[in-house]
Amino acid sequence: MAGSLFIVAAPSGAGKTTLVRGLLERDPAVNLSVSFTTRKAREGEVDGVAYHFTSIADFMTRRDRGEFLEWAEVHGNYYATSRRWLETQLAAGHDVLLEIDCQGAAQVRSIFPEAIGIFILPPSFEALEQRLRGRGTDSAEVIAQRLAAAEDEMRQVDHFDYVIINNDLQIALDELCCVARAARLRIAQVRGRCPQSFLPAL
Ligand code: 5GP
Repeated sequence: MAGSLFIVAAPSGAGKTTLVRGLLERDPAVNLSVSFTTRKAREGEVDGVAYHFTSIADFMTRRDRGEFLEWAEVHGNYYATSRRWLETQLAAGHDVLLEIDCQGAAQVRSIFPEAIGIFILPPSFEALEQRLRGRGTDSAEVIAQRLAAAEDEMRQVDHFDYVIINNDLQIALDELCCVARAARLRIAQVRGRCPQSFLPAL
């Protein structure tokens, strides 16, 4: 694997999407994987940018053809990562970021053990509840579902390499950028990028 593979997971409402957007703006070398989903597009979400929005039938056909590196059912909808896109990016030496749930993160880690797992935590459970309600994009029923799932998801934190507590957005974003930079300085990544360099041979 020539590029670095980042997996960012968090309970919904922890600020993951905002942090990932901030990282992509500051660090254009990171390429975001656009997932497939059967969820309906929210207002402002563009097909092919936020997600590849698709039907359940199309999702299942693709899954059965082996097109997905991982897939999961999250809050009653299906989500998946495109295998071909990800493998092509990594082979070309590009860094890839997956913004996925904990089930997907575990599947990807079993295929790419060298992937860097980053878990975003809200400062508290109360803060999470406030953010979910304040977002105004989901119904009360969906929010209740997401809060229940969040408690379970927060228990997954030990399966990740790095934890960022999103209390102050700017500090959390600095921390996320630091993790990305440090990951690129791992010796295997440096060797992959400059095999002809003055580094002593293995
Ligand atoms: P949302 O519907 O709020 O955009 O996403 C719901 C959850 O699904 C989030 O935790 C998000 O990270 C996760 N998710 C998005 N894309 C994927 C994917 O490709 N695979 C998996 N396993 N989860 C995903």
